[in-house]
Amino acid sequence: MAAGFTWSWSRYRTFATCPRRFWLSVYAAPLAKRKGAGHPDFEVWVQRHLMGAAQWAGLAAHEAVEWTLKGAVEGRAVPRQGVVDRTMRQARRVLEMSNGGYFRGDPKTFRGFDAHYYDVEFDGQAALQTLQSKVESLLDHPILARLLDVPERIEEVERLSRIRLWGIDIWLSPDVVVADGKGGFVVVDWKTGRNHSNDVVDGQLGLYGVYVIDRLLKVRADSGRRLPVDRVQGLMAGLGEPAFRNLPLAMEDVFAARDAMLGSTPKMRGDGLERDGEIPKMEGYPKIPPGSSPCSWCSFRRTCERE
Ligand code: SF4
Repeated sequence: MAAGFTWSWSRYRTFATCPRRFWLSVYAAPLAKRKGAGHPDFEVWVQRHLMGAAQWAGLAAHEAVEWTLKGAVEGRAVPRQGVVDRTMRQARRVLEMSNGGYFRGDPKTFRGFDAHYYDVEFDGQAALQTLQSKVESLLDHPILARLLDVPERIEEVERLSRIRLWGIDIWLSPDVVVADGKGGFVVVDWKTGRNHSNDVVDGQLGLYGVYVIDRLLKVRADSGRRLPVDRVQGLMAGLGEPAFRNLPLAMEDVFAARDAMLGSTPKMRGDGLERDGEIPKMEGYPKIPPGSSPCSWCSFRRTCERE
């Protein structure tokens, strides 16, 4: 039986990339977990949690700024070098455990590298160096320095929230929400990857904007009232150039988020089957064509026979 459907931006992106990947990740993997380690189906649960080196470095950088900001909000000094040292200690441990294959029995507790699972060449030391460089760059980011100057204004740091919008339950977790001191709010989004299309950024901004308007400005998106979009803006802070970009929220962003949610939900739910408490059939979620580039890095490529 499926637990109730919950929409999220990352699920939406996964579905847009490959419907079968979405089905394996959202519907098949939790069932596979229940079969337990040793059962052939358990591999889907293991594959669901595999990560690549770039994803690992991005996660570590997010965690490092999260510790720093939460410390500041709670009035604790969090020295930069202490954060780097702690991050690197954890990273070396993750690498060691992945090398040892611990993820094969419990992939949620022990992170596993895609390369270790698929037994492809992997330079762990190079991955550690990249991770350290990303962590240090994000800790030295001018936007982090600005946030640390006004910790009393920070409303949220990586808070996972579930809200209901336009009749759909959604999960979201903005990196940082901070009051601008003028009655509005800024949603900061750390970008640790190389490139991000404007479509992705703006669609996500619409969703975060509606969330902030709902939770902090107390206006429901579906109330029929005018939404105070002028009191919310996004701030994309990345490791490339420019270091940050202001993204004023517009009603078009809200409409884009709403249309993405309403348009994709029926298909993601298997056109109603999931609503009846059943797992939608795999056949409704086709694979993308053989040779497509997402298959080359997809963690489910063994299950899909696309190795
Ligand atoms: S291997 Fe390719 S077809 Fe299979 S789930 Fe991944 S992206 Fe989709």
